[in-house]
Amino acid sequence: MKIIDMHTHVFPQYAGLAVEVMDRCGIESSVTLEWHDGFGDSLRRHLDIFNAHPDRFTVFGNVNFKEIDEPHFGAKAARQMHKDVAAGMKGIKIYKALGLDYRHPDGTFWQIDDPRLDPIWAAAGELGIPVLIHTADPISFWEPVNDQNFWNGVLYGEYAWWTYYRKGYPCPEELLGERNNVIARHPKTIFIAPHIGSKSDCLDWAADDLDAFPNLYYDISARIPIMGKNARWARHSREFLIEYQDRILFGTDMIYDDTNVPTGLQAQALYQPFEIPLDGADPVQRYIETSCRFFQSHLDFLCTDTVQTSPPFKRTHQGITITGLNLPADVCDKILCTTFQRLMNRVPTTA
Ligand SMILES: [Zn+2]
Repeated sequence: MKIIDMHTHVFPQYAGLAVEVMDRCGIESSVTLEWHDGFGDSLRRHLDIFNAHPDRFTVFGNVNFKEIDEPHFGAKAARQMHKDVAAGMKGIKIYKALGLDYRHPDGTFWQIDDPRLDPIWAAAGELGIPVLIHTADPISFWEPVNDQNFWNGVLYGEYAWWTYYRKGYPCPEELLGERNNVIARHPKTIFIAPHIGSKSDCLDWAADDLDAFPNLYYDISARIPIMGKNARWARHSREFLIEYQDRILFGTDMIYDDTNVPTGLQAQALYQPFEIPLDGADPVQRYIETSCRFFQSHLDFLCTDTVQTSPPFKRTHQGITITGLNLPADVCDKILCTTFQRLMNRVPTTA
């Protein structure tokens, strides 16, 4: 089975490490999403490093949001996108900072659907590159962080800054509505909304957007724990993935960076203290091992009916099970590989 992991964050210095994990896991190629500086000279430097591993990486760049308050920002970013695509950029990654971080000088948030940003979305359509746009987060991020919070494993401790609870942020409905306005206004641009479009809390709700926007795709990264939360959720997730098999992409959100590799635990994995594999071994070897186990958890979820007990998944401190979906082989094949290939081989439409 051919596998493309279309959602990873590989810092260039760890390209070799990522290839080692990919080889061990049978991942043919990975999309690496640049970390805010994926444009211009730094993008070119990074492309040189990733391209030294032919056919293993697809690089999605960024626009320079540091200039968001400058006049004609949208048009300037669009011009830069044309140059970056000529250099080898294959898509654009927009972080959730649009909606939750970028502010006008008066302190108010930039709206995702601000018309001044339209040249960016239009340019992606003209260039035939997808926009991977992360907007908002699960509802739990706006709720009190306690033992009942489904995502408490990512909202405690070092990640406490991820919670939006009572901090005056826009509500998720508002942010997702703004995102949908953008998708509706740019029907010739392909949008990939990661993490089930931030609507994994209710797949019926997630389905509405796929029905409304033929130019919208989802990736499943970082949402396997909730999709396989118990037998009932797994049944519903299975029906959803079969119904939308041509609109769903496989990604893990694996991270290879300076903050996490030295810890020896794949950034997206959460282990109970007594379950850490290769405890005491060289951090890099443990990073490979924990990344491979994290990846395998995804395959078991999609392709088998195994109930994983305490899978290494960043979600909760209470420990979880993930119920496998045992999807038909042809559906697995589409999600793991061919839908993404089809999407990337589209002929650009003249906008
Ligand atoms: Zn990510």
